[in-house]
Amino acid sequence: MIIAVDGPTASGKGTIAKALAKHFGLPFLDTGLLYRAVGYQVLQEGGDPDNAGDALKGCDFPDTLLADDTLRSEAVGGLASRVSVHPEVRAALKKRQVDFAHQPGGALLDGRDIGTVIAPDADVKLFVTAPAQVRARRRYDEMVVRGVDVTFEGILADIHARDERDLSRADAPLKPAEDAHLLDTGNLTIGAAVQAAITLVEQTLQKG
Ligand code: C5P
Repeated sequence: MIIAVDGPTASGKGTIAKALAKHFGLPFLDTGLLYRAVGYQVLQEGGDPDNAGDALKGCDFPDTLLADDTLRSEAVGGLASRVSVHPEVRAALKKRQVDFAHQPGGALLDGRDIGTVIAPDADVKLFVTAPAQVRARRRYDEMVVRGVDVTFEGILADIHARDERDLSRADAPLKPAEDAHLLDTGNLTIGAAVQAAITLVEQTLQKG
């Protein structure tokens, strides 16, 4: 069974994806981490994330980088969204994701284009959303707890910029697959959102 979980930044998709993977016993790939690793690698090499050639070189990042917590910062998220607009980068990262999705026994992947490009054949597709203000508030609260010095306005502006890049890129823009189930987490607690996602998956599987 393949489960695809897509959606914009800070929508809750990462938390939902991890919980679903655990619940259904599926191996899990956070595909955003791959783009984050590329963005970080480009920075380390002194390259320009907006240059397709530099960004493509960044795809040769060492696998150990994927375990590095530095990748989870807002700054690296911004770099990831810049390198991810280049079709060359998307193509270079594609095989790894397609192979992961189609391993025996199935898998769960979260990202932006899992249901549309990586695994259009997924058994269940979820598209997790929430209004930008809510996503910015969640991200802001998370940062404050971690002791990061940020402003709400700064985070909101960053979320708008990332949405804009993800939605408007020509190659694999962020959009729900036609057969995706929309899950708006704007008014839901984490627990309720996870439960709603589990129910959606179970209902979809029952319909077969
Ligand atoms: O999900 P996460 O915030 O870690 O993703 C970082 C960036 O990587 C996104 O803003 C998006 O531009 C890019 N991305 C992508 N396709 C994916 C996953 C992430 O373009 N499947």
